[in-house]
Amino acid sequence: MIVGIDIDGVIADSEPAYRRMINRLFNLRLKQKDITSYKYEECAGLTDDQMRLFWKTFYHEGGWLKIKPIKGVKKFLDKLKREKHRIVIVTSRPRKHIKKETLQWLKEHKMPYSELIFLENHKSKHQAALLRGHRFDYFIEDYYKYALDLAKRKVKVLLMDYPWNRWGKPHPNIKRIKSLKEAEAIISKERTIK
Ligand SMILES: [Mg+2]
Repeated sequence: MIVGIDIDGVIADSEPAYRRMINRLFNLRLKQKDITSYKYEECAGLTDDQMRLFWKTFYHEGGWLKIKPIKGVKKFLDKLKREKHRIVIVTSRPRKHIKKETLQWLKEHKMPYSELIFLENHKSKHQAALLRGHRFDYFIEDYYKYALDLAKRKVKVLLMDYPWNRWGKPHPNIKRIKSLKEAEAIISKERTIK
């Protein structure tokens, strides 16, 4: 099968790293439960200028490389690879700015994958991947907007449950999961049935 996977929030545990720095820079005490939107501007009341300062500082302090992997992700991806699934990573990270850091991080953490796609100007992860010849059987995502787009295009989506996607409405093709262990069980089960 072709398994699509997002980076931030699914492979990389980015939110705690962002939040730690946001709290430090702006003297806040945000907890993960406060992050009820994909954008800190919306849920933490930060201005565009504050966010620009944050992203700049995060970059210059090597924040991208310090992000920890999501619990169990390496084991999960290794298993997918062993079972001969194709792992296609699709990220909305800006290629122009952090391609190098992204590649380096994936390498340092020995994450197996067949291809890495930067979303760039595409609005749909499904479409961006189709252009490269991949039609996903599964996609693991944390951003509800991308999840819904994939689900509408008949991809089975495993949505990592977080405060920033809890407002998302249920959809027959979206299954909310609490951990990658659940994703592993779902994908393995499918394999057995087929
Ligand atoms: Mg994400």
